[in-house]
Amino acid sequence: MECPNGCLSPMEIKKDERLFHRNGLPIVISDLTIYVCPECGQESMPLPSARIVENVLKGTVSSSGKFTAELYEMSCVG
Ligand SMILES: [Zn+2]
Repeated sequence: MECPNGCLSPMEIKKDERLFHRNGLPIVISDLTIYVCPECGQESMPLPSARIVENVLKGTVSSSGKFTAELYEMSCVG
Protein backbone atom coordinates (compact mmCIF):
# COMPACT_ATOMS: atom_id res chain seq x y z
CA MET A 1 0.00 0.00 0.00
CA GLU A 2 1.43 3.33 -1.06
CA CYS A 3 0.72 6.67 0.54
CA PRO A 4 -1.76 8.71 -1.51
CA ASN A 5 0.48 11.72 -0.93
CA GLY A 6 3.29 10.04 -2.83
CA CYS A 7 5.65 9.37 0.08
CA LEU A 8 8.41 6.86 -0.55
CA SER A 9 7.94 4.79 2.61
CA PRO A 10 5.29 2.07 2.45
CA MET A 11 2.35 2.60 4.74
CA GLU A 12 2.40 0.73 8.03
CA ILE A 13 -0.43 -1.46 9.24
CA LYS A 14 -1.83 -0.43 12.57
CA LYS A 15 -4.68 -1.66 14.75
CA ASP A 16 -6.64 1.16 16.21
CA GLU A 17 -10.07 2.10 17.39
CA ARG A 18 -12.22 4.62 15.63
CA LEU A 19 -15.24 6.63 16.62
CA PHE A 20 -18.19 6.82 14.24
CA HIS A 21 -21.72 8.09 14.44
CA ARG A 22 -24.81 6.03 13.75
CA ASN A 23 -28.21 7.71 13.94
CA GLY A 24 -26.52 10.59 15.70
CA LEU A 25 -25.09 8.35 18.39
CA PRO A 26 -21.37 7.74 18.80
CA ILE A 27 -20.11 4.19 18.35
CA VAL A 28 -16.62 2.84 18.65
CA ILE A 29 -15.08 0.12 16.52
CA SER A 30 -11.92 -1.32 18.04
CA ASP A 31 -9.11 -3.37 16.50
CA LEU A 32 -9.73 -1.80 13.13
CA THR A 33 -6.90 -2.36 10.67
CA ILE A 34 -5.69 0.97 9.33
CA TYR A 35 -2.75 1.95 7.15
CA VAL A 36 -0.67 4.83 8.41
CA CYS A 37 2.07 6.61 6.50
CA PRO A 38 5.20 6.88 8.67
CA GLU A 39 6.26 10.00 6.78
CA CYS A 40 3.24 12.28 6.69
CA GLY A 41 0.81 10.53 9.01
CA GLN A 42 -1.81 10.04 6.32
CA GLU A 43 -4.28 7.33 7.25
CA SER A 44 -6.04 5.03 4.85
CA MET A 45 -8.59 2.36 5.55
CA PRO A 46 -8.23 -0.92 3.64
CA LEU A 47 -11.35 -2.32 1.99
CA PRO A 48 -12.03 -5.08 4.58
CA SER A 49 -11.99 -2.46 7.34
CA ALA A 50 -14.22 -0.14 5.31
CA ARG A 51 -16.67 -3.02 4.90
CA ILE A 52 -16.69 -3.67 8.63
CA VAL A 53 -17.43 -0.01 9.27
CA GLU A 54 -20.19 -0.09 6.66
CA ASN A 55 -21.79 -3.17 8.22
CA VAL A 56 -21.59 -1.73 11.70
CA LEU A 57 -23.13 1.55 10.54
CA LYS A 58 -25.90 -0.37 8.79
CA GLY A 59 -26.57 -2.25 12.01
CA THR A 60 -25.91 -5.72 10.60
CA VAL A 61 -23.27 -6.43 13.23
CA SER A 62 -24.22 -6.74 16.86
CA SER A 63 -22.17 -4.89 19.40
CA SER A 64 -20.04 -6.68 21.96
CA GLY A 65 -20.71 -4.23 24.72
CA LYS A 66 -20.91 -0.62 25.68
CA PHE A 67 -18.04 1.77 25.39
CA THR A 68 -17.87 4.65 27.78
CA ALA A 69 -15.27 7.33 27.93
CA GLU A 70 -14.68 10.77 29.31
CA LEU A 71 -15.72 13.44 26.89
CA TYR A 72 -13.76 16.63 26.44
CA GLU A 73 -15.40 19.22 24.31
CA MET A 74 -13.10 21.84 22.92
CA SER A 75 -15.55 24.60 23.76
CA CYS A 76 -15.13 23.71 27.46
CA VAL A 77 -11.33 23.74 27.47
CA GLY A 78 -9.55 26.86 28.57
ZN1 LIG B 1 2.72 9.94 3.30
